[in-house]
Amino acid sequence: MANDARSWELPIDTGAIPKNGADYDAIVVGGGPGGSAAAGYLAKGGKKVLFIEKGVWPRDKVCGDAVGGKSLGHVKDLGVKDKLEKTPHFRVTGIKFSSPKGHTVRVALPEDDVEKMEAGYSLPRIQFDHLLFEECQKHVRDAGGHVIQGGDVKSVLFDDGSGGSDPGKGSKDARHAAGITVQIGGKKGEVLTFNSKEIIGAGGYRCPVAKALVEDTYEEAMVDRTHYCGGYREYWSNVKGCTDNSGDIEIHFVDSVVPGYFWLFPVSEGVVNVGIGMVMSLMDKQKKKLKAMQKDVIANHPLFKERFSDAEMVPGSAKGWQLPFGSPRKKEKLQPRRNTMNGIRLVGDAASLVDPFSGEGVGNALVSGEMAARHIIEQIPHNVYQDELWSVLGPELKNSFNMQKLSRRKWLLNWFVGKASKKPVLQEMMTEMIASKEAQESLHSPWFMFKTLMF
Ligand SMILES: Cc1cc2nc3c(=O)[nH]c(=O)nc-3n(C[C@H](O)[C@H](O)[C@H](O)COP(=O)(O)OP(=O)(O)OC[C@H]3O[C@@H](n4cnc5c(N)ncnc54)[C@H](O)[C@@H]3O)c2cc1C
Repeated sequence: MANDARSWELPIDTGAIPKNGADYDAIVVGGGPGGSAAAGYLAKGGKKVLFIEKGVWPRDKVCGDAVGGKSLGHVKDLGVKDKLEKTPHFRVTGIKFSSPKGHTVRVALPEDDVEKMEAGYSLPRIQFDHLLFEECQKHVRDAGGHVIQGGDVKSVLFDDGSGGSDPGKGSKDARHAAGITVQIGGKKGEVLTFNSKEIIGAGGYRCPVAKALVEDTYEEAMVDRTHYCGGYREYWSNVKGCTDNSGDIEIHFVDSVVPGYFWLFPVSEGVVNVGIGMVMSLMDKQKKKLKAMQKDVIANHPLFKERFSDAEMVPGSAKGWQLPFGSPRKKEKLQPRRNTMNGIRLVGDAASLVDPFSGEGVGNALVSGEMAARHIIEQIPHNVYQDELWSVLGPELKNSFNMQKLSRRKWLLNWFVGKASKKPVLQEMMTEMIASKEAQESLHSPWFMFKTLMF
């Protein structure tokens, strides 16, 4: 393929670094999907934005690389969908599940969505994030804002509520974000200050804005190992059954991996994202590491050994990362955890919004990025953001948490997948559940479940 068709492998020109001390309507920290969406929507709404990313493009992000249907509306609104569809990607038409005993079931994605190309893709994040960032940084610069890559945000500056700038003084609730400091070009680089009363934290699971809000200001814990997941991925080529550019992604509840799961997500061009994930508190109880578990499954499991017999791992692709789940916390008043204060809104992983069953976080990063931007544009009080985010995402995050807890039981997985593999009505129900939130509600109707499973 010609070099210009692989634009995501090239650097992105983001223009000159702005002058120290510049003022902005909003500052967005982090250039993943959440930050790109927030910065793009703010700029489209006429705001002067400073958009900062620590990495330098092209940059990788450890992920399973599946981009679900929920994301595609935003991908389209931000002007990226047509461009993305001209680049190599895997079109997802269904999901294959297997149980610890090795039963398998295929759940088709809704036909309508597949036909309209709204069902979802998988493609490497190095490619997806590049396409999204490139377009959103253009929106930012077209609206008079600035973009920095290779900028490591070091701290959030606060106004103490009395006109001073000492966050040690004044009550937490009177404190207001006033700007950030950012180090440019590595550890010995210059530290610059930029000012804004509206800051969006989109820096992922270790976001410096989330830390300033959750840990430093409110002295609450950011990491809760019962709601954080460890994830490990490798890219492989030549895996049998994974060489087409459309078809199924695969989720396997392998005996040696439950209470986690093993996935195979083709990303087109004959490459597959192969990975494993497990809740960290459950991982603490296991002696094995994710990397070793994955090696064992690939080499020895009867369902995969033969499929990997001619396969090769892409050198340098083995990497681990964390997923902050959006499952409801028992002791927290604010769910899933605090994500706003005067002048700060957190989005995506910085707000701990990853789906606790599927591990999907890109969709919720885009949804929260749009919401945070809209709240700033419409000058909605910051505390409304916390409530709106949970009322939009809370119901499905709660459902997914229940599913995750059920999927820790091997006997239940064996029973359910065994039944589903023989009952088309169950497969259709699972398709419906992927398509609609209302259908997910039926999961909580004991009579409905009893009827569907037993008869
Ligand atoms: C192993 C694994 C598999 C996954 N599989 C899937 C999947 O298949 N589908 C799915 O939808 N989701 C998946 N996820 C979750 C998904 O990757 C995240 O939810 C998603 O990337 C969140 O987007 P974000 O923009 O909030 O954060 P990120 O994508 O993490 O982006 C944060 C950005 O902030 C930047 N940054 C960090 N610190 C600073 C700083 N100090 N200054 C400036 N910038 C900073 C980072 O460089 C990064 O670019 C997976 C995650 C893992 C770990």
